[in-house]
Amino acid sequence: MTGRQVVRGGLVVRDGSVWREDIEIQDGIISAIGQDLHAGSATAIDASGLHVFPGAVDTHVHFNEPGRTDWEGLSTGSRAFAVGGGTTFGDMPLNNLPLTLDGQSFDEKLAIASRIAHVDFALWGGLVPGNVDRLRELHARGVIGVKAFMSDSGLPEFASSDDLTLLDGMTIAAELGMVMAVHAENDAITRGLTARFRATGGKDIRSYLASRPVVAETEAIVRAIHLAEATGARLHIVHVSSGRGAAIVAAARARGIDVSCETCPHYLTFTDEDIDVLGAIAKCAPPVRNAEERARLWEVVVGGGVGMVVSDHSPAPPSMKGGDDFFAVWGGISGVQSTLGALLTEGPAHGLSLARIASLVAAGPASRFGLAPRKGRIAVGADADLTFVATNEHTVLARSDLHYRHLQSPYVGRSFTGRAHRTMLRGMTVAIDGMPVGEPQGRLVRPATHA
Ligand SMILES: [Zn+2]
Repeated sequence: MTGRQVVRGGLVVRDGSVWREDIEIQDGIISAIGQDLHAGSATAIDASGLHVFPGAVDTHVHFNEPGRTDWEGLSTGSRAFAVGGGTTFGDMPLNNLPLTLDGQSFDEKLAIASRIAHVDFALWGGLVPGNVDRLRELHARGVIGVKAFMSDSGLPEFASSDDLTLLDGMTIAAELGMVMAVHAENDAITRGLTARFRATGGKDIRSYLASRPVVAETEAIVRAIHLAEATGARLHIVHVSSGRGAAIVAAARARGIDVSCETCPHYLTFTDEDIDVLGAIAKCAPPVRNAEERARLWEVVVGGGVGMVVSDHSPAPPSMKGGDDFFAVWGGISGVQSTLGALLTEGPAHGLSLARIASLVAAGPASRFGLAPRKGRIAVGADADLTFVATNEHTVLARSDLHYRHLQSPYVGRSFTGRAHRTMLRGMTVAIDGMPVGEPQGRLVRPATHA
């Protein structure tokens, strides 16, 4: 469709290193990589002076379509993601309506995304009490996994899973070889502390942060790992906020348990003191931690204990981000446009090479969820999903730079080092110089293990 193209003169981030070489693309697939590739009649694309990263794979977003397009949308969300260097997103089974809890709701979301998503996508299914018997049909449709909450999801329609639901769900997931993802926070602790603070009139930021302590996260992680070990399920812990939580996952994996985790740029960028200043725009669950915990998290990330950094992009209308009751405001951070930028900004000072950053934002999630070898890597035979980055360019993120439905993000006003100049999806340019371009081209990507 796109014929033959050659990306010339870039610094290509692949195979754990950086190489000055050209990339040949034939009909959207990388067909050769090497120095001074003969362009001939091919379309030449100049990447000199830029690093060429694999397109980012963000397997944790909430684009909320169908049903809550006033919160975000598959079009606005995927365009913003493309501008930030993204080429494949994984949409969560909530906060859309209907929830993605069975084959029919999967089909409904797939039909819309296939029409309006600007980049490729994978879909998650959900596990709630009562739909365990639907996991097989979700797996048959090609979900990248099934997600459950161990605590209140913030949405009454997506109930948290009790331990028996988790046990039943993991038993089926193990049989199918499907990943089970959990939001790991202890329900009794978070619910009980919330009630305790609210009973005494506590509705400020500090009360909220104190209602979701690190121990609530670590306890739930340990319990989920125990259930995964007992059932043989492939477990994934979403948005780990604490270094202690990430270290537990890394230690379990070292013992041979099939468990992975992700963290998010906001846990690596901000501390509780930033939340005091930023307020509702930076509210999420589990919450952003203190500087000491952030430093611990960085240690585990740099040490290789966290396989991926994803956005958990979870916007809501500004009306749900206001008011003086911090418990009541919507918990979710808009960040899908800033993940790569945040890592390029914060990572090097902590010892992350560009190749490690590429692994965290692309190869790591693609591998874990079966999207490799097509996605996540610059290699012959892979989709030509490429992000050209000026790694030394400094910018300050302005509200007007955002492409979300609602132009709000805790990253507005922050300085970034490194900017995505061009994003290519299967050889097609989908964003350039901060603007999305072209018609929607997104296609569903199913796990390679999917029969
Ligand atoms: Zn989420």
